[in-house]
Amino acid sequence: MNDMSRRDFLALSAGAAGALPLGSPSDAACTQAHVPGTSATTDLPGLVAPGWCDRPMRWAQLTLVENDPGRFDPQFWLDYFRRIHADAACLSAGGIVAYYPTAVPLHHRSAWLGTSDPFGTLVEGSRRLGMHVIARTDPHAVRDEVQRAHPDWIAVTADGNPRRHWANPELWVTCALGPYNFEFMTAVHREIATRYRVDGIFSNRWAGHGQCWCEHCRENFRAATALDLPTSQDPKDRARREYIEWNRERLTALWKHWDMEIRKINPEACFIPNGPPDLRSAGELAPIQFADHQARRGLTPPWANARRAKEYRSVMGRRPVGGIFSVGLEEPWRWKDSVQADAEVRIWAAEGTAAGMRPWFTKFSGVLYDRRWLDTVERIYAWHHRNEKYLRNERSLARVAMLLSEQTTTFYGGAPHQERHGDHPAGMYHALVEARMPFDMAHEAYLTPERIDRYRVLVLANAAALSDEQCAALTSYVARGGRIVATFETSLYDEFGRRRGDLGLAELFGVSVAGEVEGPMRNSYLSLEADSATGRRHAILDGLEGAPRIINGVWRLPVVPRGAFPSPLTLIPSYPDLPMEDVYPRVPHTDTRELYLRDLGRGRVAYVPWDIDRTFWEVMSPDHGRLLRNVITWAMNERPIVEVDGRGVIDVTGAPEGGADFVAVFPKRRGEGSLA
Ligand SMILES: [Zn+2]
Repeated sequence: MNDMSRRDFLALSAGAAGALPLGSPSDAACTQAHVPGTSATTDLPGLVAPGWCDRPMRWAQLTLVENDPGRFDPQFWLDYFRRIHADAACLSAGGIVAYYPTAVPLHHRSAWLGTSDPFGTLVEGSRRLGMHVIARTDPHAVRDEVQRAHPDWIAVTADGNPRRHWANPELWVTCALGPYNFEFMTAVHREIATRYRVDGIFSNRWAGHGQCWCEHCRENFRAATALDLPTSQDPKDRARREYIEWNRERLTALWKHWDMEIRKINPEACFIPNGPPDLRSAGELAPIQFADHQARRGLTPPWANARRAKEYRSVMGRRPVGGIFSVGLEEPWRWKDSVQADAEVRIWAAEGTAAGMRPWFTKFSGVLYDRRWLDTVERIYAWHHRNEKYLRNERSLARVAMLLSEQTTTFYGGAPHQERHGDHPAGMYHALVEARMPFDMAHEAYLTPERIDRYRVLVLANAAALSDEQCAALTSYVARGGRIVATFETSLYDEFGRRRGDLGLAELFGVSVAGEVEGPMRNSYLSLEADSATGRRHAILDGLEGAPRIINGVWRLPVVPRGAFPSPLTLIPSYPDLPMEDVYPRVPHTDTRELYLRDLGRGRVAYVPWDIDRTFWEVMSPDHGRLLRNVITWAMNERPIVEVDGRGVIDVTGAPEGGADFVAVFPKRRGEGSLA
C-alpha cells in the first residue's frame, strides 16, 4: 500500500500514543451509498457476507520462501500460533511459487517441495488449533517458462518490451488486468479452494505495478472508452482520467470474479485483496480488509498507523479491519530478514489497535535468522488476548472527523502550490493529535446524515476536489447543526479536479474567490486583532496573549467576504527578508481577513483561506497548532469528551463502553521508548 505523505525531517522528540479502546457489541451492519461523480463499477453482484470474518481477533502470517520446504519446522510455527493466542492464519499457498503439489499447468512448484505439502500441513495444524485459515497467493511475477508459453500474460512497458522484474531479473512482471489473472490465477484459486477448503484467499500484489501496454490492455481499454492508452500522467488529460476509472473497474471486476469462483466451491469463503482498488470499493464490497502498512520509515510519526486504521474505518464502519505489521524494518533498502526493536514494533501495533484494527503480524521465511521479535509479538498478543472484549468492533466516541478525499489525492495537482497536497491532511492530522482531540476520518463517498451527523465538526484540510453533490451534502450537514472547518482551496475544484469559477462552498463559507493563489510568500505575518467594539480578543486567539502577530502561511487564496465577519486575524503582506537593513513592514496593517468565522443557524463555519495545515506540517509552529486547535474548539462549542493532562504528544482515542485504556510513549528514536 502507499505510504502516507510524511515529513522526513520531522523529529518527534517526545510523544505518546494513547488510546481508550473500549468494547461494544458486534454489529457488522454497514450502509451503502452511491458515490456522486463516479460511474458504477460493474454489473456483477456486490459482495460482503462471509460471517466468519468478524470472529478472528489476532492474525498470524507466515510467508514462506522457496527453499523453506524441508528446511523449516511447521510444528515450531504451530506451537507459536497457539502460544500467542492467534485465531487466524494467512499462509503461503501459490502464485509465484506453489507450496503444495499443484496440478495447474505452469504453476511453479517450489524446487524444494519434493513430495511434501507444507501448505497443507500448516492448514491442517492451524485448523486443529481452532484457527481460521486463508491462503496467500502472489500473482505479480512468473518464470521464463510461463513467459515462453504465454507471452501475452506479461506486462509490457511503454516502449513495447515485456517487463522484467525490478528486483529479481529472473522473473517477469505479469499483467494484472488480462488473462493471466482472469484465467490462470482463477484456476489456481479454484484448486486451492477445492483441495483445502480455506476460509478465504488473500492475494498480495494483485493489482499491477503501473500502467501496462500489453495487447489485452490496449484492446480492452479501447473497447471500453474508444480511446488509446494514455501517454500523459496528467489526471486532467481525458485518456488518463478514463484510464484511472477503467483500471479501477477492471480490478473491481477481477475481485468479484475471484470471489464468485471461490464461493462456488465454498459459500462461506471469500476473496480478500491486499489493498482494494480504492477505499470506496472496500466500503461497498469487503466483508473484511487489512491495512498493509507494516512499519514506519525514517521519522514517519507513529500515528501514521492509526491514520491508516481510521481511513479504513471510514469506509468499513464496524466491519473488521486488520492491521498488518512487520517485525522487520520497512526502509527502502528492504532488509526483509531484519528484526525491529521491541519498542518500535509495539508502538506501531498499539497505534493500530487503538484506532480500531486487529493485529496481524507478518513474517517472511519459515527459517528464522533472528528470533528477538518472537517475545515482542507474544507480549503484544497476550495483552490483546486479555483485553479482547474491549477491542471488538469498537465504535469511536469522536466528535470530530477529518474528511478523507481520494478524489483530491487523485485529481488535484499541477500548480506549484499543489505539489505536496498530502501535507495538508498530514498537518491537520498532527494538529488534531497535538490538540488531544479524539477524531475519526469521514470518507467523501459517505456524506450521508447516518454517517456524518454523529460528528459535531467536519474538518476539510484542503479538500480541493468536491462534486456538486458533495458540496450540497456538506451544506445540509451545517443546516442540520453540523460545523465545518475548512482550509485553502477546499471545493475550488470538482470531483475530477476541474477548476470552478468560484468555491463550490462559497455560499457556505460566505466568501468568493478574488484571484489566483499567491505565493510562495516569504516573511508574511498575521495581525492578531481585538474586536473594535469590545476591545477584547476573540476566543480563537486564546493562548496567544502577548503576541501582536504570528507567522503567516506560505500560500494564500485571495477571497472577498459576501457579508459581515469578525476580524480576529488580518494579513501583513510579505516584505523583504534581506538585506537586514530592509527588513521592516512596508504595509504594517490591512483589513484583509485571513480567517472567516460564521454562525449559521445551528451550525458554524470556519474558513481559513491559506495553507495553515500544510505550513504546520512543514514548520511545526506552535502558534499555528494553537490556532488550529482554537478554531476547531470554537466550531465545536461543546465540552470535550476527554481532557488529558501531562507533557508530550498524546494520541487520544475513545470508545463508548468498557473500561480499558492504555498509553504508549513514542520512541525518541528507533529502538527507544516504552509502552505502559
Ligand atoms: Zn496488460
